[in-house]
Amino acid sequence: MGRKEDNIKRAQAIIHDKPRIRNIGTAAHIDHGKTTLSDSLIAGAGMISEELAGTQLFMDYDEQEQARGITINAAIASMVHDFDGKQYLVNLIDTPGHVDFGGDVTRAMRAIDGVIILDDAVEGVMPQTETVIRQAIKERVKPVLFINKVDRLINELKLDADRMQQRFVKIITEINARIQKLLPDELKGPWALNVESGNVAFGSARNKWAISVPYLKKTGITFKDIYKYLSEDNQAELSKRAPLHQVVLDMVIRHLPNPLEAQKMRIPVIWKGDPESPVGKAMLTVKENGPVAFMITKIIVDPQAGEVAAGRLFSGRVQRGQELWVSGMPKPQRVQMVAMIVGPDRIPVEEIDAGNVVAAIGLKDAIAGSTVSDDKEMQPFEPIVHYSEPVVTVAIEAKSTSDLPKLVDVLRSIAKADPSIEVEINQETGEHLMSGMGELHLEITQYRIVNDYKVPITASTPIVVYRERVRGAGGPFEGKSPNKHNRFYVEVEPLGEKVVAAIHDGEIASGQRIKDAKALQKQLQDLGMDRDEARNVVWIRETNMLLDVTKGIQYLNETMELVKESFIEAMTKGPLGQEKCMGMKVRIVDAKLHEDSVHRGPAQVIPAVRSAIYGAMCQGERTLMEPIQKLFLNLPQDVMGAVIGDVQSRRGVIEDIRQEGEATTIAAKVPVAAMFGFATAIRGATQGRVLWSTENSGFQPVPGELQHEVVKGIRERKGLSAEPYDEAYYTA
Ligand code: GDP
Repeated sequence: MGRKEDNIKRAQAIIHDKPRIRNIGTAAHIDHGKTTLSDSLIAGAGMISEELAGTQLFMDYDEQEQARGITINAAIASMVHDFDGKQYLVNLIDTPGHVDFGGDVTRAMRAIDGVIILDDAVEGVMPQTETVIRQAIKERVKPVLFINKVDRLINELKLDADRMQQRFVKIITEINARIQKLLPDELKGPWALNVESGNVAFGSARNKWAISVPYLKKTGITFKDIYKYLSEDNQAELSKRAPLHQVVLDMVIRHLPNPLEAQKMRIPVIWKGDPESPVGKAMLTVKENGPVAFMITKIIVDPQAGEVAAGRLFSGRVQRGQELWVSGMPKPQRVQMVAMIVGPDRIPVEEIDAGNVVAAIGLKDAIAGSTVSDDKEMQPFEPIVHYSEPVVTVAIEAKSTSDLPKLVDVLRSIAKADPSIEVEINQETGEHLMSGMGELHLEITQYRIVNDYKVPITASTPIVVYRERVRGAGGPFEGKSPNKHNRFYVEVEPLGEKVVAAIHDGEIASGQRIKDAKALQKQLQDLGMDRDEARNVVWIRETNMLLDVTKGIQYLNETMELVKESFIEAMTKGPLGQEKCMGMKVRIVDAKLHEDSVHRGPAQVIPAVRSAIYGAMCQGERTLMEPIQKLFLNLPQDVMGAVIGDVQSRRGVIEDIRQEGEATTIAAKVPVAAMFGFATAIRGATQGRVLWSTENSGFQPVPGELQHEVVKGIRERKGLSAEPYDEAYYTA
């Protein structure tokens, strides 16, 4: 039996013994070495041949990912590690490196209990390092630290032993500060990074060695020895004495929680159901003889097997042939296959116990984020919060009319597998809109439609997704119904930034019935909202809020459902260019309604409220908001002038320049609209010597002098009149 098969056998033996399971992931700024680390760990555990690791990029198994050398999908691999005379099962979930794919990172975090934060010893703490730490802590995923690329400190920066140590201290201190800032008090101590305790390791993922203080103590190797190996360029020998997988997996087993420890702490954060209910109790104790609670974090679309739903099983046991409910769906579905995942391979098993990562075929209704259970009524998991939202759109058409129906299916399937992709199907024109988190994200998805799904398509050039808002207060503005028998008076203003942030972070739910008005009122007041407003929230739509601050107006209550509908419509299509609105506070301050309900139906109320909202927005100075990206560049000094020039020509604002030996890092903010073609331009200007990455960074007003032109462009594209309507139009 080969070593790989042997390991699979051993892994299967452990899936029933929870204290010997660890569900973990890696997270880092792009290029800090996640994929290399994963490969080296998997190779060390004997799942692929050691020579291939690092060159094969095992976790990046998708062709497109390999071609581009970036990790897009969170893949999963199980491996077995010996520690203190016992065997442990480590389920490693690889997370995407490119923040264009931030949605995937967040979902992967839901499935794991611990994370190895990687940091490049030379680059130090980067803004995306902070983003992944924030995501982990939010899901109560415990971090340990691996400082990677230590070889560069000597080969490139030529640091001496002292300065190398100072460097480590600096990185650890900075990362620790970021972790501590986010932790609740009771975790500040237990989760602190501490070199002595061994939740920090140093090494080289590529050269497959690592050290930690406990490992130094155990083996008698000294820091001096390490420094000697490095300066003599003898990492091969070092790798024999301090093998990467040994040191790192020891750290994982010792410091990251098993499912029993983790779920006790995590379930109250990620699931808001009753902890005393059967499923609540089962999840808190990871009981396999209990209800099935299975959270899907990823749909893998496999050309042969079809859709594979992968995720974390928090309680119960998933068995082949079993019927399970995907929450919100009317009928149960039969599990046709249960499997463990090892890189691109799925190893079928009869059943898997709570506490593990599971792949299941047959759950056709599941999407990434679904809750699956054998109890139809199970309260779903908390929705996964996305730190990025789609900011770029392309229009897609099938090249051949015979592919029209197939393309619709493919687009639906893609949106299921990757919730960071939004699709808008237009059966009439056959021109479908697909939105994603960046130009690259969409390019890759297009590539998949053509190469994996075999549907030839044409795509428009990417278009920026804008938002609409107001700069100040507007109204009260009167909106009349077409029959003039109903009048609504509306005021608008920007919703407070703290409230917007809370909605954005999922702390305040939007798009659903307000379950506990008292709790919401308290929350809003704590965020600085006026008491009278906080108790009169009717509906929240994305980051927009509808308030009814009227008193005792007859018939208004029975009309409120229509008012809400109109509000939703107005927020979905703003008055400037029919883009979505953001951060709006819309207050109904007065109304006059016809006493006969026949005269205040949808055809009357909806246009009246809409006119009132749009009119008030005119008075509040309508503003087009554009998406902004943070841009991080890593470049040699001699091309700095050219790069800064290019960034500034794109309306970019340089925020930070850091000098480190020969390398310079630049952080800038650039509007997405000006980023198109950046990859090509920068490659040309620097002979490809620049490493760069982006991160979505919210929306900012389009500069005043540009707004008119941009709005005109949007309206023309949508076939609207060139100029938006003015106040007078809405008064009529
Ligand atoms: P990811 O984007 O975080 O998945 O990063 P990768 O694993 O793709 O690594 C990015 C680059 O860093 C690749 O060129 C790796 O070969 C290189 N790299 C990874 N680990 C090391 C290391 O320990 N030392 C050095 N010098 N380079 C490394």
